[in-house]
Amino acid sequence: MSGLFLKNPNWPNLLTLKQITENSQSQYGISLISLNFAPTFKPTNIIIMAGNRTFTMIKPDAFEAGNSGAILKMIEEAGFKIVAMKATRLTPELAGKFYEVHKARPFYADLCNYMSSGPIIAAILEKDNAVEDFRTLIGATNPANAAEGTIRKIFAKSIEANAVHGSDSDENAKIEGDFYFSQLERVL
Ligand code: ADP
Ligand code: MG
Repeated sequence: MSGLFLKNPNWPNLLTLKQITENSQSQYGISLISLNFAPTFKPTNIIIMAGNRTFTMIKPDAFEAGNSGAILKMIEEAGFKIVAMKATRLTPELAGKFYEVHKARPFYADLCNYMSSGPIIAAILEKDNAVEDFRTLIGATNPANAAEGTIRKIFAKSIEANAVHGSDSDENAKIEGDFYFSQLERVL
């Protein structure tokens, strides 16, 4: 059935349902189950636009090492525009809230301590296909596995102190951006 979903060559950022179903990370937050409720569902008409915003943090290790400027340069040179940005510092409680999704994981407590151990820079970024392209730019979570030339390969110190955060879905990019920024703090 997935072969019925056609991509429009004039809209390179539109994703076919086939692409979404093949993406095990489900970056686009689409529930296939919900589509089954539409009685007049026409598969060839279903196309979904990838979002154009993501959220990042320059983490305490990179900030402390004086790498914020170099990292922001790489981000801008990769075509991302800054929509909102601030230097700040999380409390352990706020770090715990931000990373609540990882609460059950063994590294959660360490992660919250680390993320509140020093200043960070938080930013909302804009670019076509922002979430996916930013994940490519930063590289794998563990810098040992990150591709050459990625931000984490160049700047990360360890799997925990890995220089930058990048949202993993359009939905989380919005939640994370809203966590830090009011509408007044954003470029319109
Ligand atoms: P990513 O930041 O690449 O999306 P995750 O969402 O899985 O990675 O994890 C969130 C953060 O938790 C990572 O960026 C890293 O700082 C930390 N982390 C992830 N896995 C580990 C681990 N195995 N040990 C210690 N810290 C980890
Ligand atoms: Mg993540």
